[in-house]
Amino acid sequence: MEKIQNNWPAGIKRTKQRACVLSVLEHSEKPLSATDICSKIETDGEAVWLSTVYRVLEFFIKKGMVNKVNMMNNEMAMYELNHSKHKHYAICMGCNKIIPMNNCPMENFIPKLEDDNFHVLGHNLELYGYCKNCYRRN
Ligand SMILES: [Zn+2]
Ligand SMILES: [Zn+2]
Repeated sequence: MEKIQNNWPAGIKRTKQRACVLSVLEHSEKPLSATDICSKIETDGEAVWLSTVYRVLEFFIKKGMVNKVNMMNNEMAMYELNHSKHKHYAICMGCNKIIPMNNCPMENFIPKLEDDNFHVLGHNLELYGYCKNCYRRN
C-alpha cells in the first residue's frame, strides 16, 4: 500500500496517523469501522491506538473529508471518504458484510410530501437482509 498522497488537502496539518487513516480509507471500496481502520493500519506495520483513529476520524469529519455512515439502526458507525457522489449499501444481517449499491433509487424519484415546498438536501437509504452465503445457510 502506498503511503504518499499527492492530494493531501491544503490547510490540514499532515501527521503520520492522519496519513495512515486517510490512506486506508482511500484504498477501501466500502465504508470501514474504526476497528477495521485500526487493524488495517496495524497490518501495514504501524502501531496506532483505536482512540487515536477515532480522534483522527472526528477531525476529518469536521473538515468535511470523511462521512460517518450509521448502519444497523445506528448500532454500527462506519466511515468513508466524502465522495461527491453518494452511495448506498446493503448490509448482511448474518455476517455484517457491506455490499455497495451501484445506483440510487432516489435519482428519478419525486417524493410526495405534505410540505410541497420542502427543500431536499439529501437522503439515507439502507438495505438489509442476507448475503448469498448467509442466505444459503439459513
Ligand atoms: Zn452474510
Ligand atoms: Zn441516493
